[in-house]
Amino acid sequence: MSTARELYPLGEIPPLGVVPKRMLASLIRRNRYGPPVSAFQLEEVPVPPIGHRQVLVLVMAAGINFNNVWAALGKPVDVIGARQKRGEPEDFHIGGSDASGIAWAVGPGVQHVRVGDPVILSSCRWDEHAPDIRLGADPMTSTSQSVWGYEENWGSFAQFTRVEDFQCLPKPPRLSWEAAACFLLTGATAYRQLLGWPPNTVRPGDPVLIWGGAGGLGSMAIQIVREYGGLPIAVVSDAAKAETCRRLGAVGAIDRRDFDHWGRLPDIDDANAMARWTLGARDFGRRLWDVLGERRNPAIVFEHAGEDTLPTSLYVCDNAGMVVICGGTSGYNADVDLRLLWMRQKRLQGSHYANRQQCLAITRLVAQGRIDPCLSTALSFAETGLAHQLMYENRHPPGNMAVLVNAPRAGLTELPA
Ligand code: NAP
Repeated sequence: MSTARELYPLGEIPPLGVVPKRMLASLIRRNRYGPPVSAFQLEEVPVPPIGHRQVLVLVMAAGINFNNVWAALGKPVDVIGARQKRGEPEDFHIGGSDASGIAWAVGPGVQHVRVGDPVILSSCRWDEHAPDIRLGADPMTSTSQSVWGYEENWGSFAQFTRVEDFQCLPKPPRLSWEAAACFLLTGATAYRQLLGWPPNTVRPGDPVLIWGGAGGLGSMAIQIVREYGGLPIAVVSDAAKAETCRRLGAVGAIDRRDFDHWGRLPDIDDANAMARWTLGARDFGRRLWDVLGERRNPAIVFEHAGEDTLPTSLYVCDNAGMVVICGGTSGYNADVDLRLLWMRQKRLQGSHYANRQQCLAITRLVAQGRIDPCLSTALSFAETGLAHQLMYENRHPPGNMAVLVNAPRAGLTELPA
C-alpha cells in the first residue's frame, strides 16, 4: 500500500484507494458572495473524513447547476451561515450537486459500492432512519432530506467529495466522464415532474408546455415527453434555442420575446391593466395552438421560471391539468388566480429533485441512449465560477454544462464571447 502524499496536483491521480490529507476545491466564502465569476476560487482544504455508510469519491467531472448560482450570490439563502447555525464549523462552501467519479474509500456498513467502482452521484441525501421514512414516506418528502453540494457542504467542485452510499449510481459505461456528470440533477428533476405526480403524468398525445426548453431542465423534459409519446412545446428566447428544442423532439417553440405580459398579475380592480394582461396571456395561448397545429391546451405545464411565467402557465393549462413547478429563476412571489384552480380544477404541484427509483429510471434511459445527456460544454476546473456566471446571465450554451476535475481535458465546444 503506497503512502499518501499531502496533496496531489490537479491531473495527477493517487494510486487507487490512497487518500491524501488535503485537496483542491473551487469554493465560496461569505466575503466573496456576489457574481459567481469572483465568488468561486480555487483553494486548498482538508479531505473530509467519512463515517458510517459514507463513500469518498474521486471526482472526475462535476455538473453545473443553478443552485450554486444561488449559493454564490448568498441569496435567497446564506448557505454557509445556515450550516454554521446548525453547528458545522466550516467557513466555506464546496458546492456541486452532480458528479461522475470513482469510489475511493468506503466507510463501515457501506452496501453496493466498492473501492474502484465508477459512479455518478445523486444530489439528495436523507436519514434512512428518519421516522417519516420508516413510516413509508417518499424520502424526497422527508424532513431529513437535504441537497448535497448546496444545503450540505463537501460537494463535487473538489478533487474528492463525500456522499452517502445510496447517492452512488453506476456510471453509464458508454458516457464520457463529463457527459455522465452533467445530466442527473436536471434529468431526474424533470422525470419526477413529468411522471411522478399521478394521475397527471405524460400520456401519449398530450401537449406539454416546457419553459426554458433549451435549458438544463428543459432539454431533458423535451426528451422525456417525447419518449413517453407526449407532444412537447418549448418556450425559448432566441431562434437558435428554438432549433435546439426541435432537434430534441419538440413539436415547435414559442419565442417569449414576442410577448410582454410577464411578471405579477395586475391589481384585480384595475380593469384596464387586467384586460391588457388577459390579452397577452390569450395571445400566448393562441401561439401555442399555432405551434401545436390544433386548439388543445397543455395537459402539463413544466414550470421553473416562477414569478414571470406562473400566471400564464395557470391560464393556458388545460382543465384538470397540472402546472408542476420546481424553481423560481425569475422570483418566488408568483401570483395565482385562484378561480382557475377551482373553476377549471387545475392542479398546482410543487416538485423537488427525485427519489432513488426516479434517478435510476432516468439514468437507465440515458444509458440505453434513449435520452441524450445534452452535454453542451466541458470547462476546466478553474472555470467553475465562469460556468456559473454564464448561467446567471442566461448566456450559457443549450443543455447541461460540466467542469473537468480529475478527468483529462476533452474537446471543448465554443463558448459565447
Ligand atoms: P437553465 O439551464 O438556466 O435553464 C433555465 C431556462 O429558463 C433558461 O434557459 C431560459 O431560457 C429560461 N428562463 C430564464 N429566465 C426566464 C424568465 N424570466 N422567463 C421565462 N423563462 C426564463 O437552468 P435549469 O438548470 O433548467 O434550472 C432552472 C431553474 O430550476 C433554476 O431556478 C433552478 O434553481 C431550478 N431547479 C430546481 C430543481 C429542484 O430540484 N427543485 C432542480 C433543477 C433546477 P430562455 O431564455 O431560452 O427562455
